[in-house]
Amino acid sequence: MSTEPASQPINIYSDWKAELSNCISSIDELLNQLGLKAEDLNTTEQAASQFPIKVPQPFVKLMQYGNPKDPLLKQVLPITSELQVDSNFSTDPVSESSFNPVPGIVHKYRNRVLMIISPSCAINCRYCFRRHFPYEDNRQSKQQWLKALDYLKAKPEINEVIYSGGDPLAANDNFLSWLTGEIESIKHIKRLRIHTRLPVVIPSRIDDPLLNWLSNTRLKPTVVLHINHANEIDTALSHGVNQLKQAGILVLNQSVLLKGINDNSHQLICLSEKLFDAGIMPYYLHMLDPVQGASHFDVPEAQAVEIFNQIQSELPGFLVPKLVQERAGETSKSLIL
Ligand SMILES: *Cc1c(COP(=O)(O)O)cnc(C)c1O
Ligand code: SF4
Repeated sequence: MSTEPASQPINIYSDWKAELSNCISSIDELLNQLGLKAEDLNTTEQAASQFPIKVPQPFVKLMQYGNPKDPLLKQVLPITSELQVDSNFSTDPVSESSFNPVPGIVHKYRNRVLMIISPSCAINCRYCFRRHFPYEDNRQSKQQWLKALDYLKAKPEINEVIYSGGDPLAANDNFLSWLTGEIESIKHIKRLRIHTRLPVVIPSRIDDPLLNWLSNTRLKPTVVLHINHANEIDTALSHGVNQLKQAGILVLNQSVLLKGINDNSHQLICLSEKLFDAGIMPYYLHMLDPVQGASHFDVPEAQAVEIFNQIQSELPGFLVPKLVQERAGETSKSLIL
């Protein structure tokens, strides 16, 4: 039950850390705020006990009040379909655990590595392939970070580091600034990429301390956001993206093709156009990773191809994301078309 007085101003936190500690963590609280009833939505605490519900307030503000089919709500609400066990869906669908050479590093592709910067996210997306990832084993002490850096130093073929997670921007800027400085001192590393959803769900994350370390590195940073639906883009996010761009940073987007959320050409065309208006270029449209508990989001490949052909005929080439799938054992993502 909400204890906040109705007269409270909507945007009380300009500080992202306060916003992060103020996330919604119960189904009832979320539904209350949206004027919805649990019985209309097949929610279940059992799914939430396997993978907690977590939604920042700014993201809730983007949902439509009273709409049980809201495409943002569907991304975060624990429902009974998650409990279906499907033998084609696994707990480690892209077999990351076998490419985890030292804690904190996932090295699958020859010249780029993921660094698992932060074990947590600002939002728990129900379709996430990391919902079963052993984050506790990847929680790092400074000593372990030094070992991860030694791994990078010892592999001259690595030319790009990707901050990943969880969400890397859930880490604080002092740490990120320190780590980036260390990586910068490794000569064969040319590029830095940050895969994050945090500025989408808490736009105040793009603040001066972040812009400061991000714009003072030789590593040519690219920020890859994760936005699935046009409704996730508002003026606060556009403002943040604008600041990143003014700092000379390339801003891209990846989406996941999700049944009931963005599985039609109209939505995806709207998304690409709105991304462009906000200064963000579409990069990847991912097929869902077959993770246990997410089979109800799956879009069959034939349908994905059909949708993709439609968006391709309606958009300029530079606004068409690449339709890809992560396949275990491949040396890069696989293009579906
Ligand atoms: C997606 C991914 C990358 C980055 O791939 P790009 O095609 O360069 O964006 C790197 N490592 C892993 C394990 C990945 O899943
Ligand atoms: S890793 Fe990305 S998709 Fe997964 S829960 Fe975090 S923000 Fe959502």
